[in-house]
Amino acid sequence: MTGDRTALTIRVSGIVQGVGFRPHVFSLAKRLDLAGDVSNTADGVLIHVEGTAGSVDAFSRDLVEKAPPLSRITHVETEPSPVINAAEFVILESSGADHRATLISPDVTVCKDCVREMFDPKDRRFRYPFINCTNCGPRYTIIDDIPYDRPNTSMRRFPMCDACREEYENPLDRRFHAQPVACPACGPAVSLFDSAKIPIPAIDPVQKAIDLLKEGRILAIKGLGGFHLAVDAAGDAAVTMLRHRKRREEKPFALMAKDLAAVRALAWTSRSETRLLTSRERPIVLLCKREDHPVSRFVAPDNRYFGVMLPYTPLHYLLMEGGFAALVMTSANLSEEPICIDNDDAFERLAEIADYFLVHDRDILLRSDDSIVRRAAGADRQMRRSRGYVPVPVFLKDSHAPVLAVGGALKNTVCLLKGNQAFVGQHVGDLENLRTLEFFELTVRHLSRILDVTPEIIAHDLHPDYLSTRWALEQREKRPEIPLVGVQHHHAHIAACLAENKVDGPAIGLSFDGTGYGSDGAVWGGEVLLADLTGFIRLAHLDYTPMPGAAAAVKGPWRMAAAYLSAAFGGEFLDMDLPFIHAVGRDKTAVAAQMAAKGVNAPPTSSLGRLFDAVAAMVGLRSRVTFEGQAAMQLEMIADVQARGAYDFEWSTDAPKRILVAPIIRGVVKDIADGRTPSEISGRFHATLIRGFTRLCAALMKETGVKEAALSGGSFQNAILLTGLLRALTQIGFTVHTHALVPPNDGGLSLGQAVVAGRRK
Ligand code: ZN
Ligand code: ZN
Ligand code: FE
Repeated sequence: MTGDRTALTIRVSGIVQGVGFRPHVFSLAKRLDLAGDVSNTADGVLIHVEGTAGSVDAFSRDLVEKAPPLSRITHVETEPSPVINAAEFVILESSGADHRATLISPDVTVCKDCVREMFDPKDRRFRYPFINCTNCGPRYTIIDDIPYDRPNTSMRRFPMCDACREEYENPLDRRFHAQPVACPACGPAVSLFDSAKIPIPAIDPVQKAIDLLKEGRILAIKGLGGFHLAVDAAGDAAVTMLRHRKRREEKPFALMAKDLAAVRALAWTSRSETRLLTSRERPIVLLCKREDHPVSRFVAPDNRYFGVMLPYTPLHYLLMEGGFAALVMTSANLSEEPICIDNDDAFERLAEIADYFLVHDRDILLRSDDSIVRRAAGADRQMRRSRGYVPVPVFLKDSHAPVLAVGGALKNTVCLLKGNQAFVGQHVGDLENLRTLEFFELTVRHLSRILDVTPEIIAHDLHPDYLSTRWALEQREKRPEIPLVGVQHHHAHIAACLAENKVDGPAIGLSFDGTGYGSDGAVWGGEVLLADLTGFIRLAHLDYTPMPGAAAAVKGPWRMAAAYLSAAFGGEFLDMDLPFIHAVGRDKTAVAAQMAAKGVNAPPTSSLGRLFDAVAAMVGLRSRVTFEGQAAMQLEMIADVQARGAYDFEWSTDAPKRILVAPIIRGVVKDIADGRTPSEISGRFHATLIRGFTRLCAALMKETGVKEAALSGGSFQNAILLTGLLRALTQIGFTVHTHALVPPNDGGLSLGQAVVAGRRK
């Protein structure tokens, strides 16, 4: 009888626990009439199957091809095994063994089956805002240790009722071993409060919340990775009230729309944007606004785009039944502070902002903001990588020592390396205050614990004043045996780009952003590097220009305009007919120009971001900004990409080459005098950078023989620059690497720091 039986041992690793993998194996084996067993092990899932050769073959194929949607198989190892004549197929209990080598799933949007049940009046979870199953629901945000079992999640305080337990224990049920499984009888519940923490009596708190939103009230709503502040996006009064109370003057608010039809009333959607919107990650997607959109113009002023997402939790689906054109759903925080996750914390910190609080009693153990993605130049581009994507690793070409990289100062993330996987954590935010620093530390501890990584190296930025750098230096006192590796900011950007593309370099790296600490102590940001994962040579950079007032020059782009103009024309520019001089005042402009000329409180910068700021100020777009990158963003928004012509782009012959800024500034001034529109000037400015850097790269290709290029840094959030340089450099024979997995901005910095430090050991 054993003659026609064969047997296999199969080891599967990747995201295979807590995602319905064992039930998948079980039902597949049953269907094919195979015997054997499946169990969770330290490195994934271990399977023994036996039966007819044909069935065993079919099993190995479908095991991978029909894997559950949330699983992510990284490796399958199959070997022949002795036939033991097992009688049936069984799921073996977890041995309690170490599960630390398996990956944890990110939080996943509620699935179609669960949504259908939730709107079915006959279902026992009818209108239950915490419905979930093996294929959907919270994961990363509710775990505080591994293995991923209910006692290690914030569901531990909700003992399952009999009905839920039956589903949980039945391998053929779609809730088998779904750790967050719950129902109205045993699970979390929502409740509504006013800002004084007084409960609002309501039979249906969600319906009451909808009514309040319709009245124009501001609601703090507890979600998956944190609180949102929500208002009806159609109302000017509600939207401006939210701006005022949140102290957020102009930065665009994200929107949530009920379904694709509602999204399409707001903005234009391509097929790939539709795919992104409906993906199980459900990011905020940047979409081109329609002229006739139905929401307040204060949602995203001076912006061609709306950031839009579809509902991703059951509670969102219920709220969106309210028939809103869209809800503003913005992270619930005061500017610059981390998003609120805790009920008490929310009541305290949001009391002055929200009128009402729709909360629940399932704790969020780790905050995770909404991710932001944009389609550009033929790929998905991360702008903020967080909920839905974290903690899926970036797979690297080679294995590395365990490294912790602490990232930069703005848009901070941390990264842990483990083997050939890089775990970039969720968006921490701007490391400028104690609350964010605490969140940063919490994230480091949490990630190290659930990934079971004990770092042997710590990588950091070179900026001595970044809180992340200081934190890294403090570790030296606590753990002197751990080497610290400082990685130059713009090198880290390029290294991140190379790493996510699984290449080593060397590449000609265009590392463009607003600010980063240079090896010479200057503020860098318009850098052309010859870089690989171990080091870099600075081939060229925008010529240094003083930043009058240092940090003040970032908030006031007019100061940079004064500095560049003074360098190009001397004091004469003060008599030119430039709109910003009239707006700011001649005297003030003269003072800034003098500071620049004398180098008083005016550190030199080669930043491309500052050049964008200056051009935006010169064409009269804005002299001051209310958030980082605002002027540059606006200059991109108004650009007429059809505009013909460009400005002179020249560089010096010394090493590193200095790209001369004065010819560009003179060109802009001439265009203003000639009466060209800001849109035309912006179009020409973008064309100048694209053509100029392409010519420069052609010369550098000749000099170095290097034919690979990498584009990184916050300036590559600019779609015109990204698309233009990608196309032009490809045309002249470069293989061009760009970001698609981590953001080009400082959110991707930690990945670059980690791989560089991992190499240097
Ligand atoms: Zn589901
Ligand atoms: Zn229950
Ligand atoms: Fe940067």
